[in-house]
Amino acid sequence: MNIKNYINGKFENPIENNWIDNYNPASGEVYSQTPNSSKEDVENAAVAAKSAFPKWSNTTLEERSRILIKISEFLEENLQQFAEAESKDNGKPVSLAKTVDIPRAASNFRFFGNAITQFASESHESVGQNAINYTLRQPIGIVGCISPWNLPLYLFTWKIAPALAAGNCVVAKPSEVTPMTAYLLGEICNDAGLPKGVLNIVHGLGTTTGQAIVEHPDIKAISFTGGTATGAHIARVAAPMFKKLSLELGGKNPNIIFADCDYQEMLKTTVRSSFANQGQICLCGSRIFIEQSIYEKFKADFVTKVKQLKVGHPNSPDTSIGALVSKPHLEKVKSFIEIGKQEGGKVLCGGKEIKVKGFENGYYLEPTVIEVQTDECRVNQEEIFGPVVTIMPFETEEEVLEMANKVNYGLSATLWTNHLKRTMRMSNQLQAGIVWVNTWMMRDLRTPFGGVKASGVGREGGFEALRFFTEAKNVCIKY
Ligand code: NAD
Repeated sequence: MNIKNYINGKFENPIENNWIDNYNPASGEVYSQTPNSSKEDVENAAVAAKSAFPKWSNTTLEERSRILIKISEFLEENLQQFAEAESKDNGKPVSLAKTVDIPRAASNFRFFGNAITQFASESHESVGQNAINYTLRQPIGIVGCISPWNLPLYLFTWKIAPALAAGNCVVAKPSEVTPMTAYLLGEICNDAGLPKGVLNIVHGLGTTTGQAIVEHPDIKAISFTGGTATGAHIARVAAPMFKKLSLELGGKNPNIIFADCDYQEMLKTTVRSSFANQGQICLCGSRIFIEQSIYEKFKADFVTKVKQLKVGHPNSPDTSIGALVSKPHLEKVKSFIEIGKQEGGKVLCGGKEIKVKGFENGYYLEPTVIEVQTDECRVNQEEIFGPVVTIMPFETEEEVLEMANKVNYGLSATLWTNHLKRTMRMSNQLQAGIVWVNTWMMRDLRTPFGGVKASGVGREGGFEALRFFTEAKNVCIKY
């Protein structure tokens, strides 16, 4: 099946008839073609968005909310179809797509459909000066949303939903590696009554289609999630054009385990925070630091549990770990395992590719635990973004805090302890946009989401996202 662009409410082939192979990672086979859209396709999308903007930005909040919630309901009604499509495109277990990715994409629309009805602006009375100021929160106009392959529909809609709720028209591009569910979303938007041109989805490579979105003079804001190097490139292009930018980038998150934690809960969650979605979540805790007194016990228990994880075809209900997203990504992750060994790391389990019977060309890799001697090695400093974690012991709070912060990234951190004062001290000092204590990836969509340092600029989530997708204008009236 060929994927098409969704422009002005219609499904269209790319003007230059240029296509990209779309792979099923579970079998290694090409199963569809994706447009590699040119500047002209992006231009058509921008023109459609521009002509839809005056009406959409003046559509009542109630009506916008109603349409977004309808999209959410249609996604839920089509849960099975979307979950299977996401799994086939990405390699993740269908069970995961069905319980996390698609429900969350639906929640994104429902959440921002509701949030916009509660979004208010400020007023400031200038006492003694006979004046009052009020703030208008006006939609920006046309905005660009660019997303990665790891949580395809989940992250795509995390941008689109607030952008639309705030009254913008959107030109969006999903990852060329996982375009399918974004394609299917177009149909649902039409059925839900989203007016044509309000959302436009153009497919293609980052360097062609993505670049054309970032460079387009009428696209006034870019919300981007992806790799740090891509984020830096986008910032270089967009900054001199004075575009508003939100950059959600890579991570190398510490998972810090103290001896006084609830051990079983920590162990269970640490397996998940290490290997969920084949370790391809920007929030995965890929650097595990364990207090010395429980290090040997943790090492034995963790390795036992990791060895029990079933790597298999994403359709099998008992699969915990599906296929990695692509052949190049599999090769990248494998190369890091080699680097880890060369640096003196000890592979405690995993490390090898797996041939799944009947799907021998799929991109399967054993979940891998590497014991490292120092936190300064490359496998502890660079983002691997696969089913590979490192473990090492620590002696003191000061020591582990220093190691946790000694990376370029600062997206999230997980802390396992029941010591209240230590929790407060460390949460204050960890260089991260999100700190989870005694849990992982528990999300409340109202909370700010984003990173510090090389993990990005800006915050998504709740009213932060609605603020990003609007321009504040102060009106000062003297009476
Ligand atoms: P990527 O940077 O290669 O691609 C992300 C998106 O950007 C894709 O749609 C791609 O086509 C597009 N793109 C690439 N070059 C572009 C250019 N020159 N102009 C415009 N668009 C361009 O990232 P990826 O490999 O798809 O995703 C993995 C990365 O995403 C990891 O680093 C991961 O940590 C990060 N990530 C971050 C978060 C977060 O919330 N911080 C969430 C998920 C993933």
